[in-house]
Amino acid sequence: MSRLDTQVAIIGAGPAGLVLSHLLGRAGIEAVVLEDRSREYVEQRVRAGVLEQGTVDLLDDLGLAGRLHREGLVHRGVLLGFDGRRHRIPLSDLTGGRAITIYGQQEVVKDLIAARLAAGGPIQFEVEDVELAGLDSTRPVVRYRAGGAAHELHCDLVAGCDGSHGVSRRSIPPAALTVYEREFPFAWLGILAQVAPSTDELIYARHERGFALHSLRSPEVSRLYIQVAPDEDLAAWPDDRVWDELRARLAVDGWTLAEGPVLEKSIAVHRSVVVEPMQHGRLFLAGDAAHIVPPTGAKGLNLAVADVRALAQGIAAWYRTGDTAGLDGYTARCLRRVWRVQEFSTSMSTLLHRLPGADGFDERLARAELDWICRSEAAARSLAENYVGLPFDD
Ligand SMILES: Cc1cc2nc3c(=O)[nH]c(=O)nc-3n(C[C@H](O)[C@H](O)[C@H](O)COP(=O)(O)OP(=O)(O)OC[C@H]3O[C@@H](n4cnc5c(N)ncnc54)[C@H](O)[C@@H]3O)c2cc1C
Repeated sequence: MSRLDTQVAIIGAGPAGLVLSHLLGRAGIEAVVLEDRSREYVEQRVRAGVLEQGTVDLLDDLGLAGRLHREGLVHRGVLLGFDGRRHRIPLSDLTGGRAITIYGQQEVVKDLIAARLAAGGPIQFEVEDVELAGLDSTRPVVRYRAGGAAHELHCDLVAGCDGSHGVSRRSIPPAALTVYEREFPFAWLGILAQVAPSTDELIYARHERGFALHSLRSPEVSRLYIQVAPDEDLAAWPDDRVWDELRARLAVDGWTLAEGPVLEKSIAVHRSVVVEPMQHGRLFLAGDAAHIVPPTGAKGLNLAVADVRALAQGIAAWYRTGDTAGLDGYTARCLRRVWRVQEFSTSMSTLLHRLPGADGFDERLARAELDWICRSEAAARSLAENYVGLPFDD
């Protein structure tokens, strides 16, 4: 058994864990990141692609946004499609110049890992059997196996950044947590296609056959989604059927959807989860370990970044002055944003998807709301403010 000591043990090398490691590094606080997958695996995992203004600003501030600025695509508007027409929401005009940036999560992860390792920050990949102990003590211990040997990492604090299936949340006694959950009666079938996007800005479309989204990853790669049933069988969706459905749902006169080879195809269910509180003893949950949002609002990665920003501030103040206010108030500070984002993501999802059992009345209500967003600057501004992301709360 080997023993290692550090100040903060970070479980998980996703966006939450990696950004936290950089924020702590900048504050002169030692941290060790433990990740159960290989470096190659986490660097190739295709997930989010929409970065809020605040996320980009934070990465900039950390000096980690060089490639993001060279290769990311800044979008100043989004398109809403319904009733065979399209309407542009001018995000930047409505939010004092704020914008979203399209840059794949796996690219963010690659940049963060490379910079952290270059700075000498330890990231241990392919760890196994991670266990958290002594969370109620002043010196918790993380036990794990790596390279066939057992290890112990002793620390002051544990940051649980290991996603929704990780060990951190499970290490909190169930009686100490309240879990709020909602399953949505639809899922997204997503494809990544080797074809130049047929649009300069994301298209969110509501259609009687169901929702469709035309997103993108780069000038050569498109990301497209259609609404399907949560129990849909991927095998029932050959590429041609997916393209047929995309063409039907995204159609407007005079516009053609370009098609290309499908590089990846998967189904993601939609669900919301919030765990309260986000801390227990010396363990602090961040990102997907504490909450999941349906992907319609493109918020999961951005919420993870907002969490660890608050956590890093609390940790730094505690080490600097012994003041525990930032750590004690961590849950309350994060939850305010988390529930705002849950509300936004749920409303976007409900507005844009066709719900099972919906009738003509529901259909007309949704169209009336979309029409209102197109006609009222106040309604469009509310959508734009939430979509580009609320400024950080300090
Ligand atoms: C298909 C899809 C599309 C999405 N689109 C968007 C989008 O457009 N915009 C957006 O903002 N969000 C989006 N999201 C959500 C976003 O990807 C997540 O919210 C984000 O990854 C959260 O980051 P995280 O660091 O909290 O968790 P994760 O990225 O899940 O990272 C957790 C890490 O912990 C590791 N781990 C797990 N268990 C252990 C363990 N026991 N020990 C050690 N390590 C462990 C995992 O391997 C992983 O690397 C999408 C998600 C999916 C699935």
